[in-house]
Amino acid sequence: MQNINDIRRPIIISGPCSAESPEQVMDTAKRLKAIGKVNILRAGIWKPRTRPNSFEGVGAIGLQWLIDAGKEVDLPVITEVANAQHVEVALKAGFKKLWIGARTSVNPFTVQEIADALEGTGVEMLVKNPINPDLNLWIGAIERFQNAGLDSVNAIHRGFSSFKSERYRNEPMWEIPIGLRTEFPNIKLICDPSHICGRRDILEEVSQKAIDLAFDGLMIESHITPDEAWSDAKQQITPEVLGELLNNLIVRDVETDDQAFFDSLETLRGKINEIDEELVELIAKRMGIVEEIGAFKKMQNITILQPERWEEIKNLQFAAADKANLSKKFIIKYLEAIHQESIRHQTSVMNRK
Ligand code: PEP
Ligand code: MN
Repeated sequence: MQNINDIRRPIIISGPCSAESPEQVMDTAKRLKAIGKVNILRAGIWKPRTRPNSFEGVGAIGLQWLIDAGKEVDLPVITEVANAQHVEVALKAGFKKLWIGARTSVNPFTVQEIADALEGTGVEMLVKNPINPDLNLWIGAIERFQNAGLDSVNAIHRGFSSFKSERYRNEPMWEIPIGLRTEFPNIKLICDPSHICGRRDILEEVSQKAIDLAFDGLMIESHITPDEAWSDAKQQITPEVLGELLNNLIVRDVETDDQAFFDSLETLRGKINEIDEELVELIAKRMGIVEEIGAFKKMQNITILQPERWEEIKNLQFAAADKANLSKKFIIKYLEAIHQESIRHQTSVMNRK
């Protein structure tokens, strides 16, 4: 059975959101095998649903369906566990790979219970990010499995819940998985575009983005008749559509040993470092003037925040950013950060005895 760490990038995991019947699991497996790019077969057996009375999975009976399908097409299988009892029956059925879902990663008690149940089993674990954008909670869940002595603990990025999102079902917040990579450089990072997108039409774009961000693989839900799926129908695609998506994917190398490339890269990186230094100097200079203004405001006894001025600054910068091809989203973030730091400087001037 192939270990996750031995699979060549990109690692592709696919299968239905939920196992629905032995035939559905077997058919999906065969059609996925036929596209030739899938490494691991997935299906949810126990489904944590947001609202009660939606389909909550077929339960333990489905474990054997997945095992049988994996044997038939010669692919390793993986499923989700959400408590120690799930672990026990999944191990009994012969599972060597398991994942925990976003609703489990949020709860350290449950994660610990699952980790304890896995001690000494050598099971390969994939840990989905928690539903809330908390990098430390994700790291903590990974550490609990590492501490249970598991050698293969890797991560799945499935996006983060938000009250309102226009585009995604779960906001990708790419900086969080990138932060995880910084903390754990050797961990395999798998993106789950299905649960990020919640819809089919942007799966390919998000998959490409993940691969360009050096992710090691993708977990994408597939179904033989997606529109009839018992869960997550809107985001599932047929194995053949997945095949097309994977064919279109441009997989660029994460590393190279081409010296000429490194040399040109070094030159450009040097320039970036210089600019970054200049930026910090400029910001410091701006803060100096901000402090002078703070002293004036103090003398006049007027508030730090002058709402019209703040509006004026934003409008001036939006126009400039637009011309310079900088996104409005970026410029807002940047201005807010600058503004907060300016307020901090003026506050210290105001409070100076
Ligand atoms: C799933 O993979 O089907 C699933 C339930 O995902 P998540 O935990 O990311 O919601
Ligand atoms: Mn799903």
